[in-house]
Amino acid sequence: MSSNDVIFTFSIDDGHPSDMRVAEILERHGLDATFFIPVRNREGQPVLDKHALRQLASRFEIGSHTCDHCFLKNVDVAESHYQITEGKKQLEDLLGAPIEGFCYPGGKYRKSDAAMVQSAGFRYARTTMNLCFDSGDNPYEMPTTFQFYPHERSVYLRNFTRGGHWGQRREALRLALQKKDWIDRLHALFRHACDQGGVFHLWAHSNDIDALQAWDKLDAFLAEVASSVPPQGRVNNGRLAAISF
Ligand SMILES: [Zn+2]
Repeated sequence: MSSNDVIFTFSIDDGHPSDMRVAEILERHGLDATFFIPVRNREGQPVLDKHALRQLASRFEIGSHTCDHCFLKNVDVAESHYQITEGKKQLEDLLGAPIEGFCYPGGKYRKSDAAMVQSAGFRYARTTMNLCFDSGDNPYEMPTTFQFYPHERSVYLRNFTRGGHWGQRREALRLALQKKDWIDRLHALFRHACDQGGVFHLWAHSNDIDALQAWDKLDAFLAEVASSVPPQGRVNNGRLAAISF
């Protein structure tokens, strides 16, 4: 693969009102993304209102993140089924368009939840596995590369251990552990994807960006992405799934 083959995708979880600020930065840099939205957030975080959501949907892909931001692994099968199907239906009713992507809140799911996501009519689902430079081997367990968050090194090690696929992810883990500063890690992993070709999948919570006061850092990174990734490589999650599976 050459650098022309690098693909950049970005997903933003939870539908916090600050997602509109992410959208503005993405538009300015000509980049695409998917916003995974719960209808409500049981953890008490605010969720975009109908007007803002429709505005966001006019420019970006909207995916479902259950009804209530429910960690599927922690509830029974009936509740999991309700969260998966009802979250999809309510977004579709609101937006008048099919919702094809799903993201597991907290990355917590069982194999049976993934099967329910598929039978509910979703085309793909995203996990919270990081350190991948590809879209995985199962459309209902699409991994990511990096969360826009200053994790401790131990978090990368734990995510690496739990996620498997160690051979493919070893180089990304090495790069992540090598850098002390999280933004240096982000740039090192992105440069690797550009040099080797492959997928760079960034994900974030916009309320984290608020709390970290990291808006300038996100803007600077997305400017680098826009100067490195040709237009055909700037995709939302749905497009990545379509070209991968
Ligand atoms: Zn979430």
